[in-house]
Amino acid sequence: MSDTNHNAPVRVRFAPSPTGKLHVGGARTAIYNWAFARANGGTFVLRIDDTDPTRSTEENTQVILRAMRWLGLDWDEGPEVGGEFGPYFQTKRMDIYREAAERLVAEGNAYYCFCSPEQLAADRDAAKERGDSFQGYQRTCRAIDPKEAQARVAAGEPHTIRIKVPEDRGDVVVRDAVHGKVVFNARDLDDFIIFRSDGTPTYNFATVVDDAAMGITHIIRGDDHLSNTPRQVIVYEALGAPTPIFAHISMILGSDSKKLSKRHGATSVEEYRDAGYLSDAFVNYLALLGWAPDGESTVIPRERLAREFSLDHVSKNPAIMDPKKLDFINGEYLHAMSDERFAHDILLPQLAAAGLDDGSMHEEGWYRLASVAFKPRCTLSSDAAAQAHYLYAADDELVYDEKATKRWLAKQGARDALEAATAALGQLDDASWTPAAIEAALDPLPEQLGMGKGKVFQPIRVACVGGAASPGIGETLALLGRTHTLARIERAKGLAL
Ligand code: GLU
Repeated sequence: MSDTNHNAPVRVRFAPSPTGKLHVGGARTAIYNWAFARANGGTFVLRIDDTDPTRSTEENTQVILRAMRWLGLDWDEGPEVGGEFGPYFQTKRMDIYREAAERLVAEGNAYYCFCSPEQLAADRDAAKERGDSFQGYQRTCRAIDPKEAQARVAAGEPHTIRIKVPEDRGDVVVRDAVHGKVVFNARDLDDFIIFRSDGTPTYNFATVVDDAAMGITHIIRGDDHLSNTPRQVIVYEALGAPTPIFAHISMILGSDSKKLSKRHGATSVEEYRDAGYLSDAFVNYLALLGWAPDGESTVIPRERLAREFSLDHVSKNPAIMDPKKLDFINGEYLHAMSDERFAHDILLPQLAAAGLDDGSMHEEGWYRLASVAFKPRCTLSSDAAAQAHYLYAADDELVYDEKATKRWLAKQGARDALEAATAALGQLDDASWTPAAIEAALDPLPEQLGMGKGKVFQPIRVACVGGAASPGIGETLALLGRTHTLARIERAKGLAL
């Protein structure tokens, strides 16, 4: 067995195939690679495995790069940034694979195979009939004299290239940083194809040629690739390259413990972005799906992840997607933002996207006050516009929630409360229309009217926002402004008893 390059400086890679969007499972793999590189002062390589011509598209590549950027996973080498081990697109490395395969043939570690698909099928059937437990390739073409094989290739005979699994190889033992020691029976490894008859390399070959050429020291990827690993080890050995350390991370499952799919809701990174999740929170949440620095922390900023991530704390158990926890973490990140940043990064873009406000409708202080009022009530960024919606309705078009109207307006005493509010608020002018002044004006009303606080303030609230929930009454009415507040209270008197 060749040596592993345990002591070399860490180089890891994320190697998505651009056959679709970046999904949560891939995103977590990318996060772990990034964090491992950062925690070890290593290099994070992004490579695009676009060798499947029917399913890889340029558009998907762009979607993946965009998602990586949104996640904040900066890569040190790869598309757009370059690097000394490029190109970083597999389709641009075809000559490298061809040369590597030819070198293996020349050195006797691989050979040309001329068996037709029919021949292979017949061999398989025969093995089955004999009751042979090995039903892989019978190594027929190993016996062909290399000179003869070269001549047949030169004459244009269709062929594949197969790796020569050494007869005395014995079991392939993979020491996986997550799964521990995994033993693969060498008998199950046939001389597998490294180059197809159409002249394209197979995944197990191309990926190892690249990982070896790029000096990758740790392969962190989904455990759906664990079964490919013994074949890849054979390729490393044939190439005479050190075998990297493997870390196969578990699948992400839906809440019903089934493979995550559309049925469970959003699966791609973009969908989460568009639904209003913050990339910091999303990265935090995905990092914790299968890894924890301790048993407690749920909020782990990316700087901490980049410092503390280690493979020993990665669980091999399947991780279950928990949307409630994601929402909780997202809320924590939103609430921790400064009001200025919330106004600028969340509220204004969300209001603009909702077509409510392009940022020119109010003074800066208004948006800051709106942030103070709405930030604690938001779990997702997209909640901001939904929260502030009633501030932008025309006074005579504000929709009154039926339940809230029944409960708070169509009640004895509601009209008195609204009349008293008009009188009290009428004392304030535009200049003194502040949350504190509004509260001070309304504060004495319950006692004055001999009514409970709810009976006084809730009708005012419903009158102004259409529903029974809003931030504090002072902030809400301050945001609404004096004219709109008084107009809405007037209108609601028509609904009040
Ligand atoms: N392109 C492969 C995939 O997306 C990479 C697998 C690997 O990391 O070796 O599944």
